[in-house]
Amino acid sequence: MEQQEGVWSYSAVLMGSPILLKLFSHNPSLAADTFRLIKRYEDLFTVNRTPSQVMDINLAAGQHPVAVSRPVFALIACAKAASLVKGGCFNLAIGPLVKRWRIGFRHDNTVPPAEELAALLALTDPQNVLLDEAAGTVYLARSGMEIDLGAIAKGYIADRVRDFLRREGVTQALINLGGNVHTLGAPQGGWGIGLKKPFSTADALVGVIDVQDKSVVTSGTYERYFEVDGKRYHHILNPATGYPLDNELDSVTVISTDSLDGDIWTTLLYGMGVEQGCQALRNKPEIEAIFVTKDRRVVASSTRNVLFTLMDDSYTFTD
Ligand code: ADP
Ligand code: MG
Ligand code: MG
Repeated sequence: MEQQEGVWSYSAVLMGSPILLKLFSHNPSLAADTFRLIKRYEDLFTVNRTPSQVMDINLAAGQHPVAVSRPVFALIACAKAASLVKGGCFNLAIGPLVKRWRIGFRHDNTVPPAEELAALLALTDPQNVLLDEAAGTVYLARSGMEIDLGAIAKGYIADRVRDFLRREGVTQALINLGGNVHTLGAPQGGWGIGLKKPFSTADALVGVIDVQDKSVVTSGTYERYFEVDGKRYHHILNPATGYPLDNELDSVTVISTDSLDGDIWTTLLYGMGVEQGCQALRNKPEIEAIFVTKDRRVVASSTRNVLFTLMDDSYTFTD
């Protein structure tokens, strides 16, 4: 716990990420309850260890449907819907490829042989994730299939934390789940959320995003990656090729009311790129994105709910 100018910060490591909770009063028991809530959801959704309900589904792939709790069913249904969005690159059945690459988990990563990736691609069809609403079951139709909720779980959990804090009567707070930031209220008119400068020091910023009562989710290729022969391999995979997505982007940040939308859209927009992404958001006033490109452009899809201040003049900002 750390206190600074009336703000109390509590931290933990959960879901393999640093977690930060900022409150405007000294309340260690509320912080402990919040971290317990996060842990409870992590235990449902993780695919990195047993016991977990999603692991149960994966272990029964090709064998039998598995009855799961309502949050697990709901999140998988949502992830499947996102996986069927045209032009996006979200795929909840990407598990076998994620496991093979192991990007961000090991320090001796190598590029898997092309034939191996091709074989694993056959196990990633989202249509083979079969949901039975009445029975509350999930069935992976082919043996070897694996669900991975890594691109969506933190968003869902951030929303549950927001709901919990509201129920507890909290009016101003910030929760950062390893890059998924959720805010309640607005101290001094807005939360200044730093937009990280890709491939730089941890505290270097491209700019600051001011929001109130919003979620700010960033997905960046600079977070988890390895390099071989000068080529970078990062942790967001292209479900069409089995290799890391290769495009103009260093990061995408989504500002939205619900962090679940933010997490889904960061991944979808990564696949779409700046132009197609802005096009896709044209009829979605509730979702705004800020793209950071490799050639140092910062592009906002709109600035309805967002005030962006550029801080690094090696970048140019357009909206
Ligand atoms: P993080 O917040 O950890 O950077 P993201 O929201 O950017 O996570 O999602 C990346 C994670 O999602 C990966 O670590 C992996 O578990 C999973 N993933 C990778 N590629 C895809 C994809 N194309 N569709 C869905 N999930 C993916
Ligand atoms: Mg994320
Ligand atoms: Mg995501």
